[in-house]
Amino acid sequence: MASNRKIMVLPGDGIGPEVMGEVARIIDWFGTHKSFDVSIDHDLVGGCAYDAHGAAISDAAVEKALAADAVLLGAVGGPQWDNVAYEARPEAGLLRLRADLELFANLRPAICFSALAEASSLKRELVEGLDIMIVRELTGGVYFGEPRGISDLGNGQRRGINTQVYDTYEIERITRVAADIAMMRSKKLASSEKRNVMESGQLWFEEVNRVIATDYPAIELQHVLADNCAMQLVREPKQYDVLVTDNLFGDILSDVAAMLTGSLGMLPSASLGAPDAETGRARALYEPVHGSAPDIAGQGKANPIASIMSFAMALKYTFDRGADADLLERAVMQVLDKGLRTGDIMQADMQLVGTSAMGDAVLQALDELGN
Ligand code: NAD
Repeated sequence: MASNRKIMVLPGDGIGPEVMGEVARIIDWFGTHKSFDVSIDHDLVGGCAYDAHGAAISDAAVEKALAADAVLLGAVGGPQWDNVAYEARPEAGLLRLRADLELFANLRPAICFSALAEASSLKRELVEGLDIMIVRELTGGVYFGEPRGISDLGNGQRRGINTQVYDTYEIERITRVAADIAMMRSKKLASSEKRNVMESGQLWFEEVNRVIATDYPAIELQHVLADNCAMQLVREPKQYDVLVTDNLFGDILSDVAAMLTGSLGMLPSASLGAPDAETGRARALYEPVHGSAPDIAGQGKANPIASIMSFAMALKYTFDRGADADLLERAVMQVLDKGLRTGDIMQADMQLVGTSAMGDAVLQALDELGN
């Protein structure tokens, strides 16, 4: 009998199909050993979809994504599509998915595995064991606010305008996502804005305070101005556990936090929508932070860990399988502790492996830890 839980896999371009191939093997392992019963569908996104249909994602693929419990995406883009029309460029497929699935919450964990602490630009003691979750508002704020544009002032001057705007409901729903995650972790939440110079920041501050005081009294809430937050992240990053912030500041702060961990090939992400009124489940898209890495595509060198860790997030946030997510994270840690490295995270005296050998090693660690 077909499962009623559905995963939609969109491998995309470049190294996307290679890393998603390893994720498929991990999903199979959980099916065989942990009764993870799910039906899987595949489709095209990005440049490969443009080549097939003339659009970066087809309507049929979007329909399937809307019907899925979780979408797992590889990466999109590559130099061969640099000159296609703006609306058909590979990234347009991703943007359409985010818009149509109404994914307003972007979860970017920054985890520094002990085995990789030397790869960070900060000292080992500052980053070893780092585990921050940045929750970024993804569909509002200055990237979408109106009015926007460039106008000619007629006196030899032009004016560029963007508008930072947030409504109560947008702040409230992102605060709830972050607070729910904080409740699963240390019950510590930091919120970042610039209320000292922006009214939208003042509203953000007041609404976050209201939601937490009303519905999450167990949470210890801290506010930090965004510029100070950037400094604190490189000064003493482990002071934060869950950090909620708007679209613009989240864009910057999540990249700062990412660099603390050393490698793009290690970083997963999730984007969540509003919970469905009937099922209570949120629409969700999981993807590595890295791109399609055309420089190493097709060579079997890509690190699949960011994609594997993205699937671990799906286990936790979509499928309510926190124990399985922890098992997968421990398997990845064990492989790193044994000294296996893909090229992007290679260090002296370690063993260089390719994409499928890294997948093999994670599967072997799952066998050892999970049976
Ligand atoms: P990139 O992340 O693809 O690559 C940057 C560098 O990191 C490259 O040297 C690459 O080899 C390396 N790298 C990235 N992921 C790796 C992995 N898993 N294993 C080993 N090494 C890895 O970024 P870029 O070079 O700026 O962009 C390449 C293409 O990807 C562009 O077309 C860009 O538009 C696209 N892109 C897509 C996404 C996405 O799909 N979400 C995100 C960023 C960039």
